[in-house]
Amino acid sequence: MTTFLDLGVQEPIIETLTKRGYEKPTIVQEHTIPLVLKGNDLLALAETGSGKTAASVIPICQLIEPSDEGIQALIIVPTRELAMQYVTETQKIAHAKNIRSFSIVGGSDSSIQQAKLKSGVDILIATPGRLIDFIYNRLIDLSSVKILVLDEADEMLSMGFYEDLQFIMDCLVQKHQTLLFSATMPKEINILAQKHLINPIEIRLISDQPRPSSIEHWFSYSAPKAKLEKLVHEVKKQPINQAIIFAASRESAELLNKQLSSEFKACDFLHGGLTQEIRQIVTSKFRQGKIKYLIATDVAARGLDFSGVSHVFIYQLGKDPEVYLHRTGRTGRQNRSGVAITFISDKEIGVLKKVLEKTGIEPKWIDDIKPDLKAKQRFSLKKNPRKYPSKNRKPSNFKKSS
Ligand code: AMP
Repeated sequence: MTTFLDLGVQEPIIETLTKRGYEKPTIVQEHTIPLVLKGNDLLALAETGSGKTAASVIPICQLIEPSDEGIQALIIVPTRELAMQYVTETQKIAHAKNIRSFSIVGGSDSSIQQAKLKSGVDILIATPGRLIDFIYNRLIDLSSVKILVLDEADEMLSMGFYEDLQFIMDCLVQKHQTLLFSATMPKEINILAQKHLINPIEIRLISDQPRPSSIEHWFSYSAPKAKLEKLVHEVKKQPINQAIIFAASRESAELLNKQLSSEFKACDFLHGGLTQEIRQIVTSKFRQGKIKYLIATDVAARGLDFSGVSHVFIYQLGKDPEVYLHRTGRTGRQNRSGVAITFISDKEIGVLKKVLEKTGIEPKWIDDIKPDLKAKQRFSLKKNPRKYPSKNRKPSNFKKSS
């Protein structure tokens, strides 16, 4: 068994880790910690749930000295929730060396954040937008940063932060080490890495890895109108500790929350349209177990580690097979068992086929009611143009929010 000591982690930090129940490193930590301690730049394909937060925080805490001036490590994350998760993880590990960590995120009082920065911060966690504001207004000095971490880089990209990331990286003119974590590797990330990373070591801890075998993948097939009834039935039937129920849009998350609240206690919803304060309250209530059923969109739930989630319900299947893996990956964390149940009607069969093809999942069908996956799609606009005269079609720029 590899230990933290084998990886080069020092005693005071190991003591803190042991107190937190981190007895041995996760696979991601086993691969990354020695490389980071050696000073390498890193391009890592790694997902939430793999222990990647600590994989960067542990060596960062070892490499920086609180007696040195200025911000020494800068961690950039896509969402406020992920920033909070980093702060919690960092504060626990950093305790061993009295390292001060802090986050600056959009939606919070900027003057408090400025005051805190002035009082001294060693590890700064930031979302790109707020960080850029601080840089533009000359409220932050990044000239002491020795380690830069970009986490969930692909997510930042899909949120439109590509140029912001380029700008932030351009601002760090001094010699520094960069760790880039991403769940997927679109070409822009590669371009960013080629431009800003120095001889990065690439580690791929996702693509070749089987999906967590601890998750059971169930599917429920019904007419679209019967979906809600089926969902309620399954939520009643399953031995749920905590569940996340994924909806496709903000509106649909709120509506579903209303519908489920009349059947179940302790429901709440989370989506990108809520204020930061509310998102934080909901997130922390869910973590504390005060909310049992969280109805969420992808933006809100991505990247978060909720260890009590025993079930994921997908009420509306996303278009991209990757999304299915992200959503179902909210359960079965750290090899606990988990159940994912997806509700399918005819119009989602095309996407379902792609998901099954890409993931290799053998679907299990509730009550053995299943669609004919080999049959051609019934509602193909291209093949049956006469069914939907073009003047009655939805506009092609019809957008869903999340
Ligand atoms: P992350 O992938 O960073 O979201 O981490 C997923 C979960 O694993 C979090 O709850 C961490 O606290 C936990 N964790 C990280 N490293 C370890 C470890 N070495 N041993 C046990 N739990 C860990």
